[in-house]
Amino acid sequence: MVISGKELSARLKAEMAEQVKTFPAKYGRVPHLVVILVGDNPASVSYVTGKAKASEAVGIRNTTIRKPESITEAELLDIITALNLDDEVDGILVQLPLPKHIDENKVIEAIDKSKDVDGFHPLNVAALWQKQPCTLPCTPKGIIQMLKAAGVEIAGKRAVVIGRSNIVGLPVSKLLLDENATVTIAHSRTRNLGEVTRQAEILVVAIGRPKFVTADMVADGAVVIDVGVNRDPETGKLCGDVDFAAIEPKASVITPVPGGVGPMTICCLMENTIECFLKRRR
Ligand code: NAP
Repeated sequence: MVISGKELSARLKAEMAEQVKTFPAKYGRVPHLVVILVGDNPASVSYVTGKAKASEAVGIRNTTIRKPESITEAELLDIITALNLDDEVDGILVQLPLPKHIDENKVIEAIDKSKDVDGFHPLNVAALWQKQPCTLPCTPKGIIQMLKAAGVEIAGKRAVVIGRSNIVGLPVSKLLLDENATVTIAHSRTRNLGEVTRQAEILVVAIGRPKFVTADMVADGAVVIDVGVNRDPETGKLCGDVDFAAIEPKASVITPVPGGVGPMTICCLMENTIECFLKRRR
């Protein structure tokens, strides 16, 4: 079965749109997401455009603040401080990566935890690892939703995650653990990676290398979640970290690229924005 993140996210966004429609009568306004884009990296521009489109579909107010690459760290921090204080702003997202002269950690820490729709603030990360209420990072949250929507039983399964980044690998490992999977985290220093991945009943791949995972690395019947977004060096088209054509016939469930994890990430950003809006009203 191929899980279409595109279809699932369309369904979830339609449900959210119905919910958001009721907000003006209840709360006087709709949720407001502010996205800050520094520079004009084409991938970042396309992600920010996708977030604006999704906001429109759900009925969330979206403001995109575009600043040139030359913006100073202090100027960016001043913008965030003003947004933190603005009661009409519910979510603040700074599109990463930032130019080298700006300290990303400092910027993420400057965002008010209650408006941190990406779930990257250290207090949200700590809360996740302590199983406290928190805003979950969008990509890992979307992956768990996709597994559940596909009817995949996670509890008791052997899960292998390739990648240990703060935004995908580590948090998705924690969420799988919270769902009672037995989790192994593999990375660039893992020896005999194929031996490890062949043990996986659920394999999550977040590396950033086109078609890195080949059919011989995957067990028959495995559930395969492909997080990677790469350009295929041969065709120039978007592709994942997994050799989809070769693995799809042997996987029980697999996500495509594009149209898999990516749309679910944006969908979860919408969910997080609504959650932050509602929490600030309680
Ligand atoms: P990242 O920060 O670069 O981390 C990559 C991870 O992969 C690292 O932990 C690295 O190991 C591991 N790795 C690299 N080469 C490896 C190898 N040969 N064997 C085993 N492990 C290896 O990347 P990221 O931010 O997690 O993103 C990963 C991919 O997901 C990228 O393609 C990115 O564009 C995509 N992504 C997609 C979405 C979405 O919504 N669809 C969201 C976020 C990211 P070490 O730690 O040892 O270096």
